[in-house]
Amino acid sequence: MYYKGKPKYELTPKTSDWMHELFNNLAVVRGLVERYGSPINIHHLPSFNQNSESYKQVFESYGLKYRIFYARKANKSKGLVKQAFASGIGVDTASFKELEQCLALGGNSENLVLTAAIKTELQIELAITSGVPIILDNEDECVLTQSVAIRIGKKAIVGFRISGFEVEEEKLYSRFGFDVEDVIDFVSSYVGEHKTFDMLEVMGIHFHLDSYSTHQRSVSLIASIHIVSTLKEKGYPVSFIDIGGGILMNYLEEEKEWIVFNDNLKKAVVKQDNDITFNDNGLGFRLEEGKLRGKLNTYPYYNKINKGSFIREVLDFMDNDSGLTVASLLSKNKIELRIEPGRSLLDQVGMTVAKVIHRKKDAKGQWLVGLEMNMSQMMSSSADFLLDPFMLYNSEVEENEEVDVFFTGAYCLERDVLLKRKITLPRLPDIGEYVAFVNTAGYMMHFFETEAHLFELSTNLIFTGSNEKLSFFQFIDDKKITLE
Ligand SMILES: *Cc1c(COP(=O)(O)O)cnc(C)c1O
Repeated sequence: MYYKGKPKYELTPKTSDWMHELFNNLAVVRGLVERYGSPINIHHLPSFNQNSESYKQVFESYGLKYRIFYARKANKSKGLVKQAFASGIGVDTASFKELEQCLALGGNSENLVLTAAIKTELQIELAITSGVPIILDNEDECVLTQSVAIRIGKKAIVGFRISGFEVEEEKLYSRFGFDVEDVIDFVSSYVGEHKTFDMLEVMGIHFHLDSYSTHQRSVSLIASIHIVSTLKEKGYPVSFIDIGGGILMNYLEEEKEWIVFNDNLKKAVVKQDNDITFNDNGLGFRLEEGKLRGKLNTYPYYNKINKGSFIREVLDFMDNDSGLTVASLLSKNKIELRIEPGRSLLDQVGMTVAKVIHRKKDAKGQWLVGLEMNMSQMMSSSADFLLDPFMLYNSEVEENEEVDVFFTGAYCLERDVLLKRKITLPRLPDIGEYVAFVNTAGYMMHFFETEAHLFELSTNLIFTGSNEKLSFFQFIDDKKITLE
């Protein structure tokens, strides 16, 4: 028997058939948690493939040259890397180990890119040896890449990361990349034959914006097209523009729920009768001198424009100077468009299941349900993960046993409360029952996971899906994933 938790203001998550199938097979869930420990992270590969296909279809409908690189930092599982290659897309790597593992799992110079924020000599050497493009961020990296390339006697394929685009008379700040105003000068002065950096082969331009604005991406893309044209005129074989990730995804079934929740959270903070969150957490909002300040400090969980339609909005933008759309400008200039989605490729891919260990009432009379799991195992930069959880009960629920609970975690911190919202359940969970948090594959599982108290890291399970009856054996420990 499974039920969605129903807080006062519901945020009903989008779910997939595979999740419900699992909820309906409690024996399989129990087998997995008992075998692998709590919590477990389950990854459904067909959903990942579906997301890849949907991006491909968008680019193909425009007739664009393109490549898609899955930003691995959003989830560390090897099974997803293998699936990316099987789905015909590449992987964006950001560390030595990410790159090394991807190479071992079938990656190569065509389907990998190195975008690490800090690039060590070892990373650069591995990338050059294997012919993987390196996205350069600054002059020191150029110096290091040049010297490694000389030492091993092989040119480095590089792209230049740029930032500081001007959008609506405002310069978009980023700590990453070369300034958009300087990059042409820099490349033409120092890169190429008989120049300082003669071992760097410039193949592309790269940017990644911190915001989720399609307009900023369109404007930045147009500026990048001009840069590519200029560099091509100067004889550089620049062929691609990589616009990074940050493509929105949608977590919620209904826009209305999102609006109602936001309105009521604000009202509760203003009226100071916050009955929605743990210890009146404003999730970014606060009251100062009677005025509402701050903003919701979470991911924007509802997005009407997301994934494919987000890309379409970027590409359909009209460039007033040329009278052409961004897509047409790319085609006309024969530029390959690259993207590096992380989160959005993981939409509907993952789920985290944890076991109930205890129930208690705190001094305020609130029910706390202690889970064998800690806050770092479902954490992002958001103030809260705003999706209603699912409760997997062992037995039918009688009526009129509704109870409000908070789920608490294993770290000895007051703030280890897994969801900040108060959740209403049909009845108090029993010890040994399970709670499922859906759509956690993007950033929630691994990005901030720590081993405080020497807790084991959670086990990642790879589920290939199946038409047969669901069984324990269809779930493979990610540690066991190899090339074969
Ligand atoms: C984080 C990052 C991505 C992925 O971003 P998402 O929001 O997960 O799509 C892609 N490229 C670069 C350079 C990044 O830093």
